[in-house]
Amino acid sequence: MSRHKVSEHIAKNAAERAKRLRPDGIGQYLNLSGEFAHMNADPFTDRIEREPYRDHVTVAVIGGGFAGLMAGARLKESGVCDVRIVDTGGDFGGTWYWNRYPGVQCDVASMVYLPLLEETGYVPTEWYVHGPEILEHCQRIGKHYELYENALFHTRATGLDWDESAQLWTVRTDRGDEFTAQFVIMGLGHLSVPKLPGIPGIETFAGPAFHTSRWDYAYTGDPVGGPLGNLRDKRVAIIGTGASAVQCIPHLATACQELFVFQRTPSVIEVRNNRPIDPEWFAQIANPGWQQRWLDNYAATMTSAEPPAEDLVNDSWTAMAKMWRDAGEVSKSDLDQADLEETAKDPRAAELLQPWFFADMAKMGRIHARVEESVKDRRTAELLKPRYYLACKRLTFHDEYLGAFNEPTVRLVDTDGKGVERITPRGVVVDGTEYEVDCIVYASGFEVGTAPTRRAGFDPVGRDGRRLSEHWTNGMRTMHGLHVHGFPNAFHVQSITGGTRFSNLSHNLSEAAKTVAAVIAHAVTTGVAVVELTQQAEDSWMSNVGINPDWRTFLGADCTPGYSNNEGTDLGPHSLWDAHEFPDGLGFFQHLQEWRGSGEFDGLEFHRSDS
Ligand code: NDP
Repeated sequence: MSRHKVSEHIAKNAAERAKRLRPDGIGQYLNLSGEFAHMNADPFTDRIEREPYRDHVTVAVIGGGFAGLMAGARLKESGVCDVRIVDTGGDFGGTWYWNRYPGVQCDVASMVYLPLLEETGYVPTEWYVHGPEILEHCQRIGKHYELYENALFHTRATGLDWDESAQLWTVRTDRGDEFTAQFVIMGLGHLSVPKLPGIPGIETFAGPAFHTSRWDYAYTGDPVGGPLGNLRDKRVAIIGTGASAVQCIPHLATACQELFVFQRTPSVIEVRNNRPIDPEWFAQIANPGWQQRWLDNYAATMTSAEPPAEDLVNDSWTAMAKMWRDAGEVSKSDLDQADLEETAKDPRAAELLQPWFFADMAKMGRIHARVEESVKDRRTAELLKPRYYLACKRLTFHDEYLGAFNEPTVRLVDTDGKGVERITPRGVVVDGTEYEVDCIVYASGFEVGTAPTRRAGFDPVGRDGRRLSEHWTNGMRTMHGLHVHGFPNAFHVQSITGGTRFSNLSHNLSEAAKTVAAVIAHAVTTGVAVVELTQQAEDSWMSNVGINPDWRTFLGADCTPGYSNNEGTDLGPHSLWDAHEFPDGLGFFQHLQEWRGSGEFDGLEFHRSDS
């Protein structure tokens, strides 16, 4: 039996990384603006004309996705009812409003991903529910907490200005609104600005072209009237093979006359194992406090060195967490020992040869084996094998994606890491060959790694005229990811520079929303006009926040380009990866619970209007 050589594994990953490095980094992408602005339009809801608002609200929430909905819900529960949510979409839902591509589905178990299940009494139908059900749940939350009453949809915030004399925020929007708010909450999402690949000639394509987050059902056929029925005589190109593409390709595969999948980097395709939720089983677990118990169990299972005995979710994510925890136990018996010893003499390679490396190598072997078992054509299977370290890119989960390449209608066009060469009026060119198509779907992802204020589309002006972009020149600065010095009465519901990041972003947002609502409710009930984070508290929190240097080196020097490492350039100040060094995720959440539960709100100053 030939033994595996770690030297070959390292060399292969390094060679594949090198193929993909490009000097323009994140500059390679285009926004859906200017000549592409029509691609950013809302294909789902008609815009309704209305008069601008010139009134006052207690709380303005910018963003009506999970973050804004949870913040609104917790405020209402706390008795703060004068809440106005503002969103660019035509309804609540955020990500789940925009991303309606066929097959869209949550990647984290519904029981811990869907917010406020216990509060709304909703029982998800599947272990990983599909997008329409998540959007409907967002609408359910909106109705349950009466958040529709004062919401402004199809409205983009364009300015937030702190008025020192009035001790209020002025909120401006692209609908001409100019209203005041005592408090503002920003729940803007991490992946909300779609991007296009800057492929030469992209503007010349003559047929329909759209981004996965703006799916054109008028062209492809409405799923209600028959799944993508209009595509049966169409040749379709999809560019990109990340998490969105992986979910929609199996649907396109059976709908199109011919589907060309243009791949730059294959994704890791893990097991999905979706199944219906049995209402009888659910009735047994749904005793009071069940969702928080599941959330805590999942957080501890995913992040703790000493996880709970029972793994309630028990899926591919938690198996991955277990794999990293048990990395030291991985057997090296199938490795070429002479090669291992030789490789360890290279100081850089020796740095990689940690327990995680051997677990990663074994795991990638299993990922490759799954590709081989699922894809009949040997060449296609070879091209679908990811060659990078597991943690470099977002994992995907699907049980039909790989099999879709067995459909006679589907053709994988691999670009050998270089990306699509050119787009012409007729189609897509790779390696000198033009593939003529009727339509192009861009599964090219979202802007990450740029300044948060750029992605927001507005730059809040706080005390003394200081802009948030100035305060965050060298990256986000907050306490808990929520409060910012110099920006009184303004809060962020997000996870960067929070205490933890793990696969269930929804849990991070839930804790953030509860915390922000508790602070505002305290201020409102005690007659406080202004709440502000002290400089010292921000500095103290930030002194503990930061990316582990080993991790930074790994992402920068060893990882294939992607949004995790700013496309392989450097992590940059606006990296997603800053995290407080709490020993585990649950530890951070417990810290937040104690912090807000104590009623002391350590680090914040509360000023009455006369002080
Ligand atoms: P990604 O950024 O993950 O993928 C973009 C794809 O486009 C990549 O395959 C990329 O290749 C490819 N690409 C970019 N430029 C070119 C080019 N010039 N030529 C050919 N291909 C190109 O975007 P997604 O929308 O798939 O996912 C974004 C994130 O959204 C996910 O990582 C996940 O966090 C989230 N998501 C979550 C889901 C869920 O929870 N259910 C579902 C979908 C998305 P390369 O890899 O080489 O850069």
